[in-house]
Amino acid sequence: MSDTTDTTNTSANNADGAANANDASSANAAPSSASNAAAGAASASSAPQKFEFQAEIKQLLDIVIHSLYTEKEIFIRELASNASDALEKLRHLQLTEKAILDDNLPLEINITTDDTARTLTIQDFGIGMTRAELVENLGTIAHSGSKAFLKALGESGRKNAGLIGQFGVGFYSAFMVAKTVTVRSRSWRPGEPGHVWASDGSGSYTLSPSDGERRGTKITIQLTDDAAGFAAESRVKAILERYSAFIAFPINLNGKRINTVQALWLRNKNEIKDEDYTGFYKFQARAYDAPRLRLHFSADAPLSINALLFVPQENTERHGLARLEPAVALYCRKILIDPRPKDLLPEWLRFLKGVVDSEDLPLNISRETMQDKALLDKIGKVITKRFLKFLEEEAAARPEAYDEFYRQFGIFIKEGAALDYTHKDQLARLLRYESSLTGKGKTTPLAGYLSRMKEGQTDIYYLAGASREAIENGPYLEGFKSRNLEVLFCHEPVDDYVMNSLREYDGKKLTPADHADVKLPDAPKPPADAALPEADTKTLVEWLAATLAARGVAEVKASDRLVDSPALALNADKFMTPHMRRMMKAMNKDEDAAPLRVNLEINPASPVIKHLSAMRAAAPEKAVLVAGQILDNALIAAGLLEDAGRMVSRIYKLLETI
Ligand code: ADP
Ligand code: MG
Repeated sequence: MSDTTDTTNTSANNADGAANANDASSANAAPSSASNAAAGAASASSAPQKFEFQAEIKQLLDIVIHSLYTEKEIFIRELASNASDALEKLRHLQLTEKAILDDNLPLEINITTDDTARTLTIQDFGIGMTRAELVENLGTIAHSGSKAFLKALGESGRKNAGLIGQFGVGFYSAFMVAKTVTVRSRSWRPGEPGHVWASDGSGSYTLSPSDGERRGTKITIQLTDDAAGFAAESRVKAILERYSAFIAFPINLNGKRINTVQALWLRNKNEIKDEDYTGFYKFQARAYDAPRLRLHFSADAPLSINALLFVPQENTERHGLARLEPAVALYCRKILIDPRPKDLLPEWLRFLKGVVDSEDLPLNISRETMQDKALLDKIGKVITKRFLKFLEEEAAARPEAYDEFYRQFGIFIKEGAALDYTHKDQLARLLRYESSLTGKGKTTPLAGYLSRMKEGQTDIYYLAGASREAIENGPYLEGFKSRNLEVLFCHEPVDDYVMNSLREYDGKKLTPADHADVKLPDAPKPPADAALPEADTKTLVEWLAATLAARGVAEVKASDRLVDSPALALNADKFMTPHMRRMMKAMNKDEDAAPLRVNLEINPASPVIKHLSAMRAAAPEKAVLVAGQILDNALIAAGLLEDAGRMVSRIYKLLETI
């Protein structure tokens, strides 16, 4: 601001302290022309000078004051974060500058409330502001946060004043609760005098020199009647605890320290004790126990990030509790930007707790960077990749602990493997399954399966079923077992989706063992006389196809994957395994599913089949009953039997014949 552009203004709409202003001025000067020398000269007179706010600020104040924005309490966050910024900047200066005013003052924030006077005061010993800086920083729209707010407002129309909450209009948010705001400030530069800035937010402010100020800024808010509650210590304390607990500078409220928990994530790992981590986790995640896993890391490229992540003991979703919400808070230089950023991490990581602090933002940090989805995406990717790497390392170093983690949180890994295309390779490496070769309750990674594959084996086989027993007792495993081929056991409904969406692992196809197309290499043949002769088998197959066609059997053939069981059913639809059909039915209970169509495979070595072949000529009626029952048994094993009533009456008919 230069004095030559000041214009006399005798508006009656005086801000507090401006009543006797006779040299009141307007500060519509271009902020860039502000000079300390000119400002210093103007402050030679001790009478308050009156200034008009820049037009944009007036517009902003009008919106802020009249907005119905309910979360007025954010003004405390804004002022505390400004104080913290000012202290942070001073800390930087201390590294480079020799002469700093009041260099012995502690780097802390002091907040006082007075509920009789209805005031709230926030004071810091940060860098403070010169007269010119007060004019520029508090009277013009030079800084980015409010600018972005106005721009967004312009785009969405005035109605949308709720945007304030998203942007945090910084210093001006104080006017949501203030009759008047008084700012006493003195710059860190030795030789700069102190000043008082005051405004009621109605369009102008006053400035006057002030003797006896110490370095830093002291903002006193005279609260409106509506907002008098913010003069209550308990209210302010609760708000501070929520928003500013991890500001790295001490905050005192009415002389008592508020923030005992420090910005742990920015400290050196070697200095931090386990119990510090646990205390922080309990505070941050509102947990009662210690975390199951913890990852504390920092990255410099491509972004500067400090992150402290926790996996809780329990997956509460597993116990039928509500779906988890994202809970990794986003900080920028210790200031909370968003406690639950929705777009930071992929959804399947919603079980994570903790803090991400990205410093890689311009020094004039402002909350509109939050709107920068691309930046959030980048931060999210760095963290996700790092966390996945961490899990891989854990799995290798502490397999048992990893298994425990997997029992609780494996479902999220699966969700990610099925849905998160970007990370699916890394996620696939974290999957674990029981298999026909592991013991009960023991699991193998897909890599383990690969290492045990037979020569010439091109597929990774899996079978879905409710339990290990159900799969082992079913007919589908027999052919694989007799050839010593490993089959993964999938017990969870999502597994089919995971396998389908992964399609392959390390170049090997993932194939359901009960898929109609599975071709198995030659099995050890039963002795020639043990099986039904080929010609008889052919006739029987044709007869069965004709007899069972009305029951939805599309094809009958002699099987190469059966050893003991007489028959098995496969979905005729290649793209659907029996398990998938079960799931579809369960999901669309009310809709009529397409009529069932299956392929039936029979085992020519099975006594039941041999018997049936003979019975066809000897007792044709009974043979039809037996054929129907063989089909039903195969459907039961596949979990596909839809009408058990018919089966019961058939069995009674068969019992009559014995
Ligand atoms: P932002 O913090 O996004 O820059 P604010 O409206 O919160 O926007 O603050 C505007 C400017 O006022 C800040 O950039 C800073 O230069 C100055 N300022 C606000 N509070 C303080 C303070 N306590 N100490 C020093 N400067 C401050
Ligand atoms: Mg600010």
